[in-house]
Amino acid sequence: MDAVILDCLATGNRLRRVSTLDAIGAGPRLVLGILKSMGYDTALIPCNEVKKKASLIRRATYVLVSGMSTDLGSMERVRKFWVGKSSVAGGPSFVDYDHLLRMGYDYVVIGEAELPLPLLMERLDEDGNASSVPNVAWLSEEGPVRNPGPPYVTEPHLWRFTPDTEAVRSYPGWWGARVYVEVVRGCSNFYRPTLRLADGRRCVFCDICRTGPLGKRGFCPINIPPGCGYCSVPALFGPARSRPLRAIVDEVHELLNMGVRRVVLSAPDILDYGRDWLVKPEPLTDPRNPPPNLDALEALLSSVTDHPRVRDGEAYVLVENIKPNLVNEEVAKLLGKYLRGTPAHIGLETGDEEHHRALGRPSTVSEVIRAVKLLKEAGLIPYVYIIHGLPGENERTVRNTINAVEQVRRAGAEHITLYRFTPLKGTAFEGFPRPPPAVKSVARPLYETVRRLNKEANAGYVGKVVKVVGVSKLGNVTVSYMLPHGPVVRVKGGRPEELVGSAFFVRVTGVIKERVLEGVPINRGRDIGMS
Ligand code: SF4
Repeated sequence: MDAVILDCLATGNRLRRVSTLDAIGAGPRLVLGILKSMGYDTALIPCNEVKKKASLIRRATYVLVSGMSTDLGSMERVRKFWVGKSSVAGGPSFVDYDHLLRMGYDYVVIGEAELPLPLLMERLDEDGNASSVPNVAWLSEEGPVRNPGPPYVTEPHLWRFTPDTEAVRSYPGWWGARVYVEVVRGCSNFYRPTLRLADGRRCVFCDICRTGPLGKRGFCPINIPPGCGYCSVPALFGPARSRPLRAIVDEVHELLNMGVRRVVLSAPDILDYGRDWLVKPEPLTDPRNPPPNLDALEALLSSVTDHPRVRDGEAYVLVENIKPNLVNEEVAKLLGKYLRGTPAHIGLETGDEEHHRALGRPSTVSEVIRAVKLLKEAGLIPYVYIIHGLPGENERTVRNTINAVEQVRRAGAEHITLYRFTPLKGTAFEGFPRPPPAVKSVARPLYETVRRLNKEANAGYVGKVVKVVGVSKLGNVTVSYMLPHGPVVRVKGGRPEELVGSAFFVRVTGVIKERVLEGVPINRGRDIGMS
């Protein structure tokens, strides 16, 4: 084995997923695709399998580890599985490159892998020294060095590698997982927050990032990173850039042919797809104008869903994030035409209009509520995100967020996810303290409202028949994912060894806890198993 790639994404410090258990990301598959295209014999190992695959790791010449900055604990723990090999860290964790180098990683890939990684591997093969490669960090005798390089990858390099598809089989329960296929890299929101930052800097309202020429919006006279204050996407991955249609369709159909049941078109905003082509050669750094490229979106959605398993209701194509300000009747209708019955994720973050704008959001609160209503009417299932503990939060913002949350629920939001603010490195809100849990803060009434609304939504499932796919066996229980998306269902009855790998129908009999239901299988037929 020449190289192994360890996927530590979303594992925190536990070597196993702590959230989004059913998701298989696009990044590690892309790294695998890059290495395979260079002729390396390579394997991908999910972080929770490192103990089982320790001998494979020992036999590899190179170890590449992918993670986010919240996964540094796991990235440190996996270090004990090898000695004396060249190791490379990458993924969004690169913002903590100094920490990763001091942990013992030899190199850290800064930003996107397409440019530095092939060069880095070539240099390692040649003489074991990659310290001159652009966009790579390494440890010199004087300390960590970050080699400069382009801020983000552009065409023709951007989409020149094909993410590996076979690698999804490395993940337990892959046949029921949501497999992410990249369609847009980066984000079009180059607005910045106007709140005072942790180091005292504050927007001087020059308005460049809101009304300046597109090519100038990357610049801020006081150096505030672009995007919503809590989000690292535009600063780390640049403006929105759309992947060519053919490459997406090939990858999606290959995954569906393999037996994947759920493909997620991965994009910081699916409605950015093809918008960058409308402003070319300028970068897409405006989150509101031009409006969505309906032709590009229709070409994308009609092609990816044009597959027999999708037409037969055996497999599903889903989207994730949607910028509410880009949703109008036409957009909602188009999404409903191809994605009916699937979820759409919308960020509200705070329901206070002034706070919403001050965070750098491109939308208004009323646009969020309207988007939820339109998407629901078009047949999608809106999921809404909020964040507590953000800079600027106070009793008023909490009160207004409770009000907005009640409104999005009435407008048709299926589930509200309440996150705790995490100050990420490389974002405008870096340096703010991590807030206490919602129950111990001013956000407690918001926490209670969200809990109540979600409890009501969960209770609404009881007695209903839903379709699930069995992914694992826990004694006599089959742990199953709802199709196309929804709470986990623990199925009692039937034969778990037959149900794992199959899609089947379940009558929901109760709620175990938030996002976890229980049910019994019912005899409405099942389709072919994939395990
Ligand atoms: S955040 Fe920076 S670029 Fe944007 S308006 Fe304020 S000072 Fe100007």
